Amino acid sequence: MLHIVACIKQVPDTKIIKMNPKTNTMDRSSAPAILNPYDAHAVEEAVRLRARYGGVVSVLTMGPPPAVKAIRKCIEIGADEGYMITDRAFAGADTLATSYALTKALEKIAEILPIDLIVCGKMTIDGDTGQVGPGIARRLDIPPLTSVIKVAEINPDERYAIVHRKLEDGYEVIRSTLPCLLSVEKDINEVPYSTLPNMLRAARYEPHIWSVGDLKDIDRTQLGLKGSPTIVSSVWAPQKPQGGAMLEGKPDAQVSQLLDVLLTRKELFEAASGGGVS
Ligand SMILES: Cc1cc2nc3c(=O)[nH]c(=O)nc-3n(C[C@H](O)[C@H](O)[C@H](O)COP(=O)(O)OP(=O)(O)OC[C@H]3O[C@@H](n4cnc5c(N)ncnc54)[C@H](O)[C@@H]3O)c2cc1C
Repeated sequence: MLHIVACIKQVPDTKIIKMNPKTNTMDRSSAPAILNPYDAHAVEEAVRLRARYGGVVSVLTMGPPPAVKAIRKCIEIGADEGYMITDRAFAGADTLATSYALTKALEKIAEILPIDLIVCGKMTIDGDTGQVGPGIARRLDIPPLTSVIKVAEINPDERYAIVHRKLEDGYEVIRSTLPCLLSVEKDINEVPYSTLPNMLRAARYEPHIWSVGDLKDIDRTQLGLKGSPTIVSSVWAPQKPQGGAMLEGKPDAQVSQLLDVLLTRKELFEAASGGGVS
């Protein structure tokens, strides 16, 4: 039986979030918290693998108490169990401290049911580093397989997985031993609408919630701000792009407006570069 654990994070919806112009930091109250979109694909892939090979899908998150909502979203997608580690001691964690805390939680989950596969998203839409997955794999001393676009085969008995990894000019096929950790791309699957039974189960679901004291052999100096060597020296909001125009009218009128804009641009470019452009 396969035990797959997907690591998931609740993030502010960065499509909506506003920046505080005075502090140059995110105004988290300006946007709803959502399941990191890449992680929805990680959970969906785990659910699909369970359909192919049988087993159990668990999800794990480190976050503040409201992150329970993100776990419930994963139950809607089809996960069986949800685990959350939450504690003030985790606050201010960079990717090094995050991967440490998550590894300790994974070790505890593995005591309940040994883990065959860990699935992460490619990255989060707020932190954006893509470091946490490989960081966990390094700490657990298991192979990290990043940029995964297809899981071709899992063989729980012979203990191997075959996956396709996205490259700039194609893909490569990799065979790895189990357990291993996959970081998946968005194009690995499409996340369908949740089914009604899953939605009902999610609404009632209470995840397993652990604090630092529940984790074994934990070195508190590696947690939270204390365990985070990253220093953020400055933060600024990117300038909003200026300009832009709405093309209006019937399609042929819009095409002619667009051509006018492109021709004017071409003339400006030629004048600036001092030569002809064809
Ligand atoms: C000095 C410093 C202080 C910070 N303080 C805070 C803070 O107080 N609160 C805060 O929220 N952030 C804080 N951050 C941001 C925090 O470091 C990152 O959010 C976190 O380490 C994850 O990194 P990432 O978002 O780049 O994830 P990525 O590495 O891009 O994520 C890749 C994948 O790893 C998994 N993953 C990532 N994070 C988690 C998680 N928390 N739980 C489960 N799975 C996960 C997901 O599968 C995700 O798709 C701080 C960062 C720095 C540098």
